[in-house]
Amino acid sequence: MREWVSVCDADAMNLIDHWIDGATTPLASTRRSDVFNPASGQVTGAVALAEPADVNTAVASACRGYETWRDTSLTKRSQILFAYRQLVEAHKLELAELVSAEHGKVRADALGEVGRGLEVVEFACGIGTLLQTPFNEDVSSSVDTWTVRQPVGVVAGITPFNFPVMVPMWMYPVAIACGNAFILKPSEKDPSVSLLMARLWTEAGLPEGVFNVLQGDAVTVNALIDHPDVAALSFVGSTPIARHIHTAASAAGKRVQALGGAKNHMVVLPDADVGQAADAAVSAGYGSAGERCMAISVVVAVGDVGDRLVPEIANRIDDLKVGPGLSDDDMDMGALISRDHRDRVSGYIELGAVEGATVVADGRGLTIDGHEDGFFLGATLFDHVTTEMKIYEDEIFGPVLCVVRTETYDEALALINDSPFGNGTAIFTNDGGAARHFRRNVEAGMVGVNVPIPVPMSFHSFGGWNDSLFGDTHAYGAEGVKFYTRNKVITERWPSPHDRGVDLGFPSNS
Ligand code: NAD
Repeated sequence: MREWVSVCDADAMNLIDHWIDGATTPLASTRRSDVFNPASGQVTGAVALAEPADVNTAVASACRGYETWRDTSLTKRSQILFAYRQLVEAHKLELAELVSAEHGKVRADALGEVGRGLEVVEFACGIGTLLQTPFNEDVSSSVDTWTVRQPVGVVAGITPFNFPVMVPMWMYPVAIACGNAFILKPSEKDPSVSLLMARLWTEAGLPEGVFNVLQGDAVTVNALIDHPDVAALSFVGSTPIARHIHTAASAAGKRVQALGGAKNHMVVLPDADVGQAADAAVSAGYGSAGERCMAISVVVAVGDVGDRLVPEIANRIDDLKVGPGLSDDDMDMGALISRDHRDRVSGYIELGAVEGATVVADGRGLTIDGHEDGFFLGATLFDHVTTEMKIYEDEIFGPVLCVVRTETYDEALALINDSPFGNGTAIFTNDGGAARHFRRNVEAGMVGVNVPIPVPMSFHSFGGWNDSLFGDTHAYGAEGVKFYTRNKVITERWPSPHDRGVDLGFPSNS
């Protein structure tokens, strides 16, 4: 077992534990990991890392919760969801500030993530309608047939650091509304907000064990995959881990959806409004310091538009305010999640210059007064990037925007379709025919036309194609309901007293 050596005073430590049976609960494992405030670079807490015995405890609690919850009426479930919705609304600032304190993103952005997550809670409040299924009367004489969707049991959600409220809310409102018990394994990098979400569920009246939080790392996740009482797993994170989760959980006979990483392209055609396209590229490229799976990381400038677009993007970069996410001044961009990650992104900036891209803006070497140890990096812009460069191929997940220039629209489309990822993409144009061709033929799960971050509303579903999603179903919306329920078809006959006789033939309608 790895020995945990914190970089700060263990006695003064804020210990972040699990949430089991409706309360904060320390479990057996003594493994812990430091949690940082990215804006100061200081350790602010230590999160517990569950081991297999702890996973057994959490799953046993969820099994007990499931027994009660699966038999709770749809009306009651809906009432608890409405109560939870009100509590999240009432605590949204507190939730957002907890996110900002451990993630580094600015307060307004964190509030935006809480709002987008809340939309899925609101969607799930209508569970009575969402679970309505087909019914046919008289499919044969005195025979009726209908379909029901039943919960799958105990389900687990494993989530990334970049949206510690919104991504869990892509999963648990729908899973719980459908009658399952849910175990959340949040990112160990920003775990605190998961405990506030759990407390709000308890206040809303959710029975014990229906929503548990198990803090942990890869050891915890692999024990969840191996546990026979975990029926389904939803994962969101990087592509290599998503692929591993999908393979391992499928081999263990579980239902699994695993959403992976991305490299999202935004095509700008020569007829586009260049000012609007530059606004969109900067907003979608540098929002949340580029740590979004739907961030635009590549702008594909078609024809001569690059000569007008690149200076417009560069001008806007000059005006971006970078600083602590919880500052009273409204910052545009906060710190990155960790020192290691900031250094990794800086390494890509150095590499881009070596690979021959034109460095238009270099965000390295940025220091913020009073926050000299924070994990900050300024916005970086590369022009004349080519498809064989590593800065083009790899998901950098930082405030780095690459401009690739193509002569034609067809080349632009082809390079997106050659990408191994397929999460989101966008086109900026005033040509309806080009936009229509793009949305029909581009290989990506979420497409924006003059919309740079086309995250679907809660009543549609979220998910990418290719290496951005392993599994059949996308998150939330109708696909979420499908993922968290099993189909059962009932064929029922109430014969009249005159219907008699043995018939060994296969049931038919003759
Ligand atoms: P990550 O893959 O490192 O971690 C995600 C989760 O997996 C965490 O809970 C972590 O504890 C766990 N984990 C890490 N290593 C593991 C292992 N070897 N075995 C089992 N579990 C393991 O991702 P991250 O750095 O937290 O988040 C950023 C990534 O998530 C980016 O690649 C981003 O594109 C992606 N992401 C994708 C979407 C999407 O919808 N497709 C949304 C948000 C983030």
